[in-house]
Amino acid sequence: MQHGRNKYKRRGLPETLLEDWERRLEPPRKTTMPKEWGYAGHNGPDRWHELYPSAKGNNQSPIELNTKDIKHDPLLLPWSVSYDPGSAKTILNNGKTCRVVFDDTYDRSMLRGGPLTGPYRLRQFHLHWGSSDDHGSEHIVDGVKYAAELHLVHWNPKYNTFGESLKQPDGIAVIGIFLKIGHEKGEFQLFLDALDKVKTKGKEAPFTNFDPSSLFPACRDYWSYHGSFTTPPCEECIVWILLKEPLTVSSDQMAKLRSILSSAENEPPVPLVENWRPPQPINGRLVRASFK
Ligand SMILES: [Zn+2]
Repeated sequence: MQHGRNKYKRRGLPETLLEDWERRLEPPRKTTMPKEWGYAGHNGPDRWHELYPSAKGNNQSPIELNTKDIKHDPLLLPWSVSYDPGSAKTILNNGKTCRVVFDDTYDRSMLRGGPLTGPYRLRQFHLHWGSSDDHGSEHIVDGVKYAAELHLVHWNPKYNTFGESLKQPDGIAVIGIFLKIGHEKGEFQLFLDALDKVKTKGKEAPFTNFDPSSLFPACRDYWSYHGSFTTPPCEECIVWILLKEPLTVSSDQMAKLRSILSSAENEPPVPLVENWRPPQPINGRLVRASFK
């Protein structure tokens, strides 16, 4: 380009015209997703694959479940957890969700059974939600969108580190729990009350003595399939345990969840809402039910 510029300069063209010329001579710029992924048009789910190729893989999550097509598999055992409330460490607003982080440096808070072959360690939980009560979940069941979806992320310590687990098809186990609107859930309020300390993006606060199994519905029936994280880089390493029975929370509690911001403290306030990925192609994967 420098050569061209000099050539035109020699011909005495004004600088502004020169720049215009050079721009026209450039090949059309290939649009790329901005560095930071999100849920807006310019950086949302339809564009994640540009920076995170796994997002176009064949085993992506979430999916839409059609329960009439799902077969009971008697090999799917009951699952159980033994969570240590003291392993809860912090609550974090990362601008895309609110996450509670657990100490996973040893076998403290564990998930066993179900479709899993060994114990898995709880690392964090977080949620996905909408801007109103009528949608917000990621998985869809018989066309039903729930108000939110809770994800409890566990990793397989046989792979030594969380990072190594991300590279294995059975490295991660996520318990997914739908949130529906009804009466208030007292245990959920403990989490919601802590949101005031992490109102803006990047804030983190201590959060301990919390047992997330207090949020589990009474019924342990589940669906299971192999899929991915629903956020970039969308690694296909997840054994999903999706609970059939939703957790009931109040509309006021959902409103409180929507009160946190995706903007930082020094930025104009933007509510953190609509942080869900739409359903992905099933590509012949088998979804199994633990129940008849
Ligand atoms: Zn999630």
